[in-house]
Amino acid sequence: MIKKLLLLSLSPLLCWADSYPQAAWVPGGIAQINLGDAHQPMPKAYFRNNRVLVTQHQGQWQALVGIPLSQPPGITAINLGSADSGNQQSFLVLDKHYPEQHLTIANKRMVDEMSADDLKRIEAEKQLMESIKNTWTEKPVDTRFQAPVDGRLSSLFGLKRFFNEIPRQPHNGLDIAASVGTPILAPAAATVIGTGNFFFNGNTVFLDHGQGLISAYLHMTEIKVQTGQTVLPGQPLGTVGATGRVTGPHLHWIVYLNKETVDPALFIGEDLPRLAARNHP
Ligand SMILES: [Zn+2]
Repeated sequence: MIKKLLLLSLSPLLCWADSYPQAAWVPGGIAQINLGDAHQPMPKAYFRNNRVLVTQHQGQWQALVGIPLSQPPGITAINLGSADSGNQQSFLVLDKHYPEQHLTIANKRMVDEMSADDLKRIEAEKQLMESIKNTWTEKPVDTRFQAPVDGRLSSLFGLKRFFNEIPRQPHNGLDIAASVGTPILAPAAATVIGTGNFFFNGNTVFLDHGQGLISAYLHMTEIKVQTGQTVLPGQPLGTVGATGRVTGPHLHWIVYLNKETVDPALFIGEDLPRLAARNHP
């Protein structure tokens, strides 16, 4: 909090709210499971064999479990202590209907006419992103996020997508549209664990917040941080752009929890109404 106050005095950009993630017991959501008194040692929790983020909230240890978009509704459970322990805590996943979105991509090279070189590059980038997503850093996590861009919500997480009428993976992030050059800010304290120019994603920055909470910032014009660097909440990561596969300038913002993409909107509950309101000027 001291760091945030310091930054506030330095920059007028940073007077945004920060918020604890909201629970959403649905595919693509976050289950919040209390694990007992925070005076006890921090318990370890696992979901589908992956470690789960555990943080302190209102005097309790609390697991923030990323629920995969592919999770069928019904009862499931986390394992406590070890991935295969009999000590389970069950929870209910509800159904959620995500709407369809049909997009026309004019550049066919970005949809179905990739060259052999393109495909090789895409595969290498996929492996790199996979390894970044699998990063686990054992440390307390700053889970109170502010919105990374002051723009308008242009496409929500989880939409069932069709490019030129071909079905694709669901939309795995939240799109915030803003003009080219608008600053993209770190939503919370984190470490930069990767930057680069990707075929689909354009100029991208990856942040490690700790304990499997990873965030990614895509389609930037300019990257202003380097791998290994620590960033404070509100520190500029780069600027909004239209690099990679896009239909216009925006930030595609991805948040991973226990290796699963979850709805980034759940992390910025307090900023969301302001960004959403821009869609209805
Ligand atoms: Zn997007």
